[in-house]
Amino acid sequence: MQPFQYQRPADAAGAVATVAETDGAVFLGGGTNLVDLMKLGVEAPGLLVDVTRLPMNRIERAGGGGLRIGAGVRNSDLAADPRVRAEYPVLAQALLAGASGQLRNMATVGGNLLQRTRCLYFQDVTKPCNKRRPGSGCPARTGDHRNLAILGGSQQCIATHPSDMAVALAALDAVVHVEGAAGERTMSLDELYRLPGDQPDRDTTLARSDLITAVELPPPGFARRSAYRKVRDRASYAFAVTSVAAALDVADGQVRDVRLAVGAVAPVPWRARRAEQALLGRPATEDAFRSAVDAELAAAAPLRHNAFKVPLVSNVVTAVLSQLAGSAA
Ligand SMILES: Cc1cc2nc3c(=O)[nH]c(=O)nc-3n(C[C@H](O)[C@H](O)[C@H](O)COP(=O)(O)OP(=O)(O)OC[C@H]3O[C@@H](n4cnc5c(N)ncnc54)[C@H](O)[C@@H]3O)c2cc1C
Ligand code: SF4
Repeated sequence: MQPFQYQRPADAAGAVATVAETDGAVFLGGGTNLVDLMKLGVEAPGLLVDVTRLPMNRIERAGGGGLRIGAGVRNSDLAADPRVRAEYPVLAQALLAGASGQLRNMATVGGNLLQRTRCLYFQDVTKPCNKRRPGSGCPARTGDHRNLAILGGSQQCIATHPSDMAVALAALDAVVHVEGAAGERTMSLDELYRLPGDQPDRDTTLARSDLITAVELPPPGFARRSAYRKVRDRASYAFAVTSVAAALDVADGQVRDVRLAVGAVAPVPWRARRAEQALLGRPATEDAFRSAVDAELAAAAPLRHNAFKVPLVSNVVTAVLSQLAGSAA
């Protein structure tokens, strides 16, 4: 690991200014992803600006009845919060499906959102990788891509976003609060993340000195009837092969509203808007769920070793929506 310096700023503005003014400075959350990447030589920051002691570690009721979650809140504390468990079960379930107890005790909301892909070539500095070294190539396309993207990838990169929590937040229409050199702003998850296109080294639209300060959830509404299901190669301590976050509102047997996001299939948490649109006003039946998700998957461009994800996503989405419809009945 390259030598680095460490600072603990007193406030968010100081943290932003320090990163903005210092080449090679980055924010440090729980360090569970960043420090691993430093050990592997993928990242070599000159200065770590520790943001875990900033006053961003509270979960508070927001105006309008939602929840404002500080970016420094640890994943285990968020999963255990009684309001999250009762009002946004999809989020608590997604958090508990991620990593291990020890990691969740360290991992922060901000760091979880900005964790990097687990593509093997990205993590191996002896291999080319357009995301790590732009222009060097993408060996995953012809190599190991079993767990990489079937939606939203490009010729340059087919990495998947690894976070479970972000998939639930995408389905919940969460709003991300950011403090940057020009002040504060908010953005949706759609606006936070970007597809690789021909610039795969940029995972998000954030500037280097943009600090995530909080995530806000809208009032729960029908999110109370929501669920997260994760398919993985072993029962715990494994990243998703695919995952589904869904919330469903059914009245008189018809879909009144639905939120659907799929994980581990795209470079971003994939909000399945085409499937949502196809379901509105339709009978809440297994057939309707399957034809809606298959409409979403029409855009899939799988490669040889990840084509299995197409029927897998179809089956898991159909199962989760059927389960939610059953509980509504
Ligand atoms: C063995 C293992 C298994 C795992 N399994 C899973 C899993 O199954 N599912 C899953 O979702 N995750 C999993 N993870 C990943 C884990 O969830 C992430 O490492 C963690 O959430 C990152 O949070 P952190 O606070 O430690 O971030 P850090 O490592 O501190 O930071 C990550 C990135 O975010 C930036 N950053 C941190 N805070 C902020 C902020 N407030 N504003 C702007 N930038 C910021 C950092 O500069 C860095 O680029 C696993 C990790 C390990 C090591
Ligand atoms: S898929 Fe993306 S991260 Fe993986 S090797 Fe290709 S460019 Fe790198």
